[in-house]
Amino acid sequence: MPLNIYNSLHKQIEEFTPINDREITMYHCGPTVYDRVHIGNLRSFFLADTLRRYFEFTGHKVKQVMNITDIGHISGDADFGEDKMMRLLKRKGLEINLKNMLSAAAEETEQFEKDLEALNILHPHVLPKASDHIKEQIAMIQQLIAKEISYVTKHAIYFDVSKDPHYGALGGLTTSGQEENSRIEESEKRNIQDFALWKFDEMGFDSELGKGFPGWHIECSAMSIKYLGEEFDIHTGGIDLKPIHHNNEIAQACCSTDKNFAHYWMHGEFLNIDSEKMAKSLGNMFTLADLEEKNISPLALRVLFLQAHYRSVLNFSWDALEASSNLLSGLYKTIAKCIYDDLRQKSSLDAVQILVEDYKTSDILSGYQNDLNTPQSFSQFMRYIGEEPAINYDSRYKTILMLKFDDLFGLKFKEVDSTTKKFLTQEKTVALIYERNKARLNKDYQKSDELRDELLAENIACEDGKDESFYFPAKILGVSLQ
Ligand code: AMP
Ligand code: ZN
Repeated sequence: MPLNIYNSLHKQIEEFTPINDREITMYHCGPTVYDRVHIGNLRSFFLADTLRRYFEFTGHKVKQVMNITDIGHISGDADFGEDKMMRLLKRKGLEINLKNMLSAAAEETEQFEKDLEALNILHPHVLPKASDHIKEQIAMIQQLIAKEISYVTKHAIYFDVSKDPHYGALGGLTTSGQEENSRIEESEKRNIQDFALWKFDEMGFDSELGKGFPGWHIECSAMSIKYLGEEFDIHTGGIDLKPIHHNNEIAQACCSTDKNFAHYWMHGEFLNIDSEKMAKSLGNMFTLADLEEKNISPLALRVLFLQAHYRSVLNFSWDALEASSNLLSGLYKTIAKCIYDDLRQKSSLDAVQILVEDYKTSDILSGYQNDLNTPQSFSQFMRYIGEEPAINYDSRYKTILMLKFDDLFGLKFKEVDSTTKKFLTQEKTVALIYERNKARLNKDYQKSDELRDELLAENIACEDGKDESFYFPAKILGVSLQ
């Protein structure tokens, strides 16, 4: 079945056809590294990861590029005003200069990469920094100058939107954000929607354009083209970037190359809190550090994200996250139970591979093919997990299904499988379990309780049934199974 996705460029669901079958090319607007990303930002990177995982799961090769904005991003969509990177320097009490700006940004970038890893977001193949690509941005600006699409003022080199008949291809044009520029440049700016390609600034980079910084939008046009070519398959970003940043990216790229730039544009909706966008400026944001404080695994956030369609607003609450965390714990426990059964019976999962029939796979995938409808797929997956198979292979069948879909959902089922095996086969654990089962058989409950505590010290918990006990890791990948 083909993949159908909503293309913001044409405002309709379209069948996805890559430019080149050998490799699917994708660009994602990444973070401005002036502070730790919040879980709203992470939702937009989760969309990028979901796409990549789907393509790889269905046998495609993918090249993924995500930019790191480490210079020149002003709050809101303005060209002038409070620079987010300046805020970082002030917060850290560092002297305001370019060198400090770049080294502080490098530290934040490192934290960002750790956050991606914690959420099991596959590392993009290229993570280019705006500050490392000044040459490419200048080259694009020079092309625009040569085509007389820009003009120079005292403050900046501007893109003249009236020279681009296709300006605003994505729609949703707004003048908010640019009003600030207009106030600053009142007499010099030609059109309210004109935006800075290069801003003159004594602190900035030396260049043939004059000392300064690139405007915020040019980095994405220049770096996506450098790594993916003048036309590539998919461009993603949060919905807030569509009206200005993405319309400007398209204008710069298309006017400088006379090509079509990205073929499909996908926009992720917000993570809200109390019906408001989660944003640093609103002071209503949480980071992965807040999850850690509450002992909630970042993978529980993945479960929460999976259960919402990327084009729907998701309202964040700790209760919803707790529920996702419990769901994850239940899934992990199912795997652990299966492994314990297997080790005890010395049988192998391979014997029941057949239980995950092809139709189940295509049934689960059909949600993804329906405009990346992860909640549809995930609930179908959960239905199969919850269903009682006719034959008595219950937990094995479920485990195989989980292992099969691990790479698609990114919930680390394979790691749970291998780590549980390691825990349960440790010599000391095996001996303690043997002793405990014997004590229970002999109705020596005091000894059995002592052994239970000893096992717990080895991170092994137990549940006692009427006839037999079941042993599993008490905590795995930061998720409690008890
Ligand atoms: P920024 O660091 O502000 O450039 O944002 C990085 C990415 O996060 C962009 O794609 C934004 O659209 C996205 N983003 C920011 N806030 C939210 C939110 N509350 N929910 C979802 N995505 C967001
Ligand atoms: Zn961008």
